[in-house]
Amino acid sequence: MAALDVADLSFRYGKKEALKGVSFAVQPGEFCALLGPNGAGKSTLFALLTRLFVAREGRIAVMGQDLQAKPRAALAQMGVVFQQMTLDLDLSVARNLAYFGALHGLSRREAALRAVEVLERLDMLERAGEKARDLNGGHRRRLEIARALMHRPRLLLLDEPTVGLDARARVAITAHVHALAREDGLAVLWATHLVDEVAPDDTVLILHRGEILQSGRAGEIAQENGLAAHFLALTEDAVI
Ligand code: ADP
Repeated sequence: MAALDVADLSFRYGKKEALKGVSFAVQPGEFCALLGPNGAGKSTLFALLTRLFVAREGRIAVMGQDLQAKPRAALAQMGVVFQQMTLDLDLSVARNLAYFGALHGLSRREAALRAVEVLERLDMLERAGEKARDLNGGHRRRLEIARALMHRPRLLLLDEPTVGLDARARVAITAHVHALAREDGLAVLWATHLVDEVAPDDTVLILHRGEILQSGRAGEIAQENGLAAHFLALTEDAVI
């Protein structure tokens, strides 16, 4: 069963069509890069997947649970890292996680156990007592990823998670999330406009003007000039 199944999804803002019949699936253990220039429709897709907006056309299922018919069951399987930082900067790393655990109905003890587990997974355990405000941008992002794993989702959505980070932090976060897919069997949907975050074995969905122009294994669709040149050629009429 696919972790995420999107079928014929369309969405418009008034007359503006932001998504046009988008269909794709992400399997457990698959790192899927949603690659699109600005204005492609990535944020709109994320808003529909997280139920910020309700899709009137098309269908979304998470681990076989229909998002419209069974939103609780579907969202319970989903961890989300939004583009905008949503940590409480005045709380410690551990308290940020405990707070999220409580929101998800975990007991204090269970939340504390899971906090250790997810911090260890993101190489952040030694920072558990630090205030979120004192973390650098890369560590704040890692904390947000750790937090998104607290309720043990099978699908992780990340909306341009490396925006504003320096090169070293970008590489670290990209590597961590690839490991979550490869080693833990998590299904990952990673939205980006940065081709260098995609590994040859990843699946790529190239989204442009609300449509998926191409999908497949990155190494296969790159063609002889490489993925970057291919992506630029496909989306050359994008507004920059
Ligand atoms: P991306 O995240 O890939 O940059 P978006 O999903 O933000 O793309 O935008 C997709 C399209 O929808 C763009 O043409 C954008 O201008 C338009 N759009 C986004 N939000 C709104 C809105 N609230 N009202 C009208 N048009 C919007």
